[in-house]
Amino acid sequence: MSIISPLQAEEIKAFLHQNQNIVITSHHNPDGDAIGSILGLYHILRGMGVPSTMIIPNDIPEFLNWLPGAAQILRYSKNPNEAKEHIKNAQVLFALDYNGSARLEKMEKHFAESQAVKVLIDHHPNPEKGFNYYFSQTAASSTAELVYEFAHAIGAQSFINTHCAINLFAGIMTDTGSFSYACSSPRTFEIVARLVSLGVKVEEVQQKVYNNFSEDRMRLMGHSLATKMRVFHEFKAAYISLTRDELKRFNYRIGDTEGLVNLPLSIKGIIFSALLVENTDFVKVSLRSSGNFPVNKICEEFFNGGGHQNAAGGKSFATITETENKFIEVLNTYKDMLNP
Ligand code: 5GP
Ligand code: MN
Repeated sequence: MSIISPLQAEEIKAFLHQNQNIVITSHHNPDGDAIGSILGLYHILRGMGVPSTMIIPNDIPEFLNWLPGAAQILRYSKNPNEAKEHIKNAQVLFALDYNGSARLEKMEKHFAESQAVKVLIDHHPNPEKGFNYYFSQTAASSTAELVYEFAHAIGAQSFINTHCAINLFAGIMTDTGSFSYACSSPRTFEIVARLVSLGVKVEEVQQKVYNNFSEDRMRLMGHSLATKMRVFHEFKAAYISLTRDELKRFNYRIGDTEGLVNLPLSIKGIIFSALLVENTDFVKVSLRSSGNFPVNKICEEFFNGGGHQNAAGGKSFATITETENKFIEVLNTYKDMLNP
């Protein structure tokens, strides 16, 4: 854990007021926490009278598009030159919900070249070196929770208005599986209570985030479960693999595979789940577990990635079939840990 000192908080507050070019970034293929936390911070800074520009590497999934302020987010994939200029001129650069610049994909080089003061706000383990300030806590449920704490640290809590609260709530809700994962702490619920008292309509956020599937997405889910899920009871594990042809058949849109990886964990006895999705030049690997099985270690060791103990991701540069086989090898290697 490394949380900034009160002195550092004062420093950050001072240079936020002194500088005009403030950029807030988050990771490639953003999830609810990525979008909720950058929008939350954006609204807080706005309340402070500090304008900022939010930049992410690629598209926002449709189920997050409605979040207050989402239309203001600049996408590097759509406007590379504009995004690049903003990053080049940035005096302060916030990195939210990622612990290493590789998660910015094509935007990474601009981040690396930037001379800005870099502030990390994140809950992933082992953040990389090179930031000027670390507001980093692995035990936090989500980055959105840390944005709330950050606002308190710099004395800006009064700027958490309803729009900000909706975004922070959406970030916490999605990263905790609606408060069902081990990472929800008493502090998480205290913060959520405060956000709700600021005007968040819980049912409305739930509806908009979770009950907003396209027909194609729902059918892709059905197909994945009925025909593409392989269950290995002897290893307490399961995986779902999807090829590019299948994605095409179901008119895949960004975000459509979100949450699929969690579904096999609802099977009695299953504690380890994988989703393997074929992309143009790699297979995207998503891993989830319940209990102590450290999927971030598996992603680091086998799939060029990382993440949290119970939720991690990475990439495989082998074919989809080879990647499936590699996953089965992992099961054999870790069989004693999976099914002692
Ligand atoms: P997802 O499976 O939903 O894409 O990602 C789950 C978690 O795994 C993310 O919150 C992030 O912590 C981590 N993660 C996903 N993809 C990558 C990756 O390519 N590299 C690293 N280091 N972590 C990843
Ligand atoms: Mn997160």
